[in-house]
Amino acid sequence: MIRNRRTHIVATLGPVSRSPEMVLQLARAGADVFRLNFSHARQEDHALAAKAVREAEDAIGRPLALLADLQGPKFRLGLFKGGQVEVTPGQSFRLDLDTTPGDRVRAPFPHPEVMAALQPGHDLVLDDGRVRLRVTGSGRDFVETTVVSGAQLSDRKGVALPGLTLPMPALTAKDRDDLAFALELGVDWVALSFVQRAADMAQLRALVGDRAWLMAKIEKPAALEALEEIFDHCDGVMVARGDLGVEMAPQDVPVAQKAIGRAARRRGAVVVIATQMLESMTSSPTATRAEASDVAGGVYEGADALMLSGETASGQYPVEAVTLMDAVIRRVEGDPVWPNLMRAERDDDVASDVDALIVAAVRAADSPQTSCLVAFTTLGGTARRLSRERPTDPVLALTPSLAVARRLGLYWGLETRVAPQPRGVTSMTIEAAQLASDLGLAPPDARVLIVAGTPFGAPGAANLLRFAAAPRAKGNLSS
Ligand code: PGA
Ligand code: MN
Repeated sequence: MIRNRRTHIVATLGPVSRSPEMVLQLARAGADVFRLNFSHARQEDHALAAKAVREAEDAIGRPLALLADLQGPKFRLGLFKGGQVEVTPGQSFRLDLDTTPGDRVRAPFPHPEVMAALQPGHDLVLDDGRVRLRVTGSGRDFVETTVVSGAQLSDRKGVALPGLTLPMPALTAKDRDDLAFALELGVDWVALSFVQRAADMAQLRALVGDRAWLMAKIEKPAALEALEEIFDHCDGVMVARGDLGVEMAPQDVPVAQKAIGRAARRRGAVVVIATQMLESMTSSPTATRAEASDVAGGVYEGADALMLSGETASGQYPVEAVTLMDAVIRRVEGDPVWPNLMRAERDDDVASDVDALIVAAVRAADSPQTSCLVAFTTLGGTARRLSRERPTDPVLALTPSLAVARRLGLYWGLETRVAPQPRGVTSMTIEAAQLASDLGLAPPDARVLIVAGTPFGAPGAANLLRFAAAPRAKGNLSS
C-alpha cells in the first residue's frame, strides 16, 4: 500500500480511537504517525494504543511511527469547592500555596517558583485565554491579582504566564516517568511540551540518546526567540498553536507559524503544524471551508506533517477527519502551481560536497523521464537531506533499520521501506528499480534516480548517483 502523498498526517490517539480496529481504520484513511498524548490517559492505555499501531503496521505493510508527547511543565490551578466559581472583572483574586479548595476570592496554586518570578503588572492567562488576571502584588507563598476579564474558574485549569521565562526544569517527575515508559514501548519520536530554551531539549537528548528522534513543541514566545539554538538539539518542531495562541495575539500566530516553518526548513528539521486544523469535526461530520483552507495553507507552506488532536482523540468523527485531511492534502498537491511553490523554496545550499550531491540529485530528477528518487540510507541522513530539498518526485527511502524507516515517516515526501543493505552497485540498481516499480512509483520506461553511499552501510556519506531503468513488466517482488 502506497500513499504517494508528500505531506504526512499525525493523528492523536485517545478514548475514541485507541482500539485496534480504530487505529487500523485511521491508518487506512491516511494517518502516517500516531501521537500518544501523555497529558491525558494512563500509561496502560498508551501501551494498548502503541500495540494497536504496531499491529496496524503489519496489516497495511508500511512503517507507521509512534510519537510520545510529554506534558512538560504546565502550571495548573488546584481545586475549588464545588468544582467551579464565578468571578467578575475588577474584583481581586488571590492565588496561594494553601491546598484548601478555592472560592470566589482565592484558589490554590501549587507553584512557588512562579510566585517568586511574578511582578506587579504581569498577566496570568487561565483556561486557554478565557480568564486574565493582572498581578498587583506577590510574596513567597501568594500572588494578589485583579481580574481583567473572564467569568468563571474551575478545577485544574491551565495557567500561562505570557512573556515570562521561568527557572523551571524542562521535565517534571511525571515527564521522566512517562519518558521511561514511552522508551520502553519503543516509540519513534518524543515531543516535549512548553520548551523554553535550548537547554531543555539538550536535557531531553541526554536522557533519550539515540533511542528516539526529538521534537520541540513551540508553544512559548521564549521558545520562538531561542528557535535557532533549539534546532541544535532536536530533529523537529511542532507549531503548537493551541498554547502558543494563549500567549500570542491571533494575528501573530500565522506569522509565527510561517517563520517556524522557514527556519525548520533551513535547518533540515521536520515541522508539524498542530491544533484546531479541523476542530469543528469533533462534533460535525464535515469541516468548515475555513478549516479546509487552513489545512491547505499548511501544504502550500511545505510543512512536513499536519496534526489532528481532539478530532481523532475524542471527537465524534475521527475517521472522517483523517479522510478529509487526506483529501485536502491530495487536492493541493495536485494543484499545478504547488510544485513550483515547493521548488521556489529550495535554497540550493551547498556548504558541503554531500549537499552538492543532494542538490544535483534533486535537479537531475526534475527531468520528465525520471519518476522517483530512491535513497539508500543507513541512519536516515541521506533521506532527510533529500526531503529538505522538497523534490518534485517521490522519494523511496530504503533502510535496513525498521526504527529508522518509522522515524523517517514524518519527513516530507518520503515513502519509507525496510530493505537489506545493498551487496553491490549492480544488484542495488536492479533491486531499487524493481521495488519502485512494484510500489507504483516507476511506470514502465521511466527511470529512477538512486542516491547511495559506498561502501554500503557507512552512514552519512552519499557519494553515488545512478539512473536505473524501471522494469518493463511488473515483477513479483512484494513491498
Ligand atoms: P497540546 O499541544 O495538544 O499538548 O496542548 C498542542 C498545542 O498546544 O497546540
Ligand atoms: Mn500545548
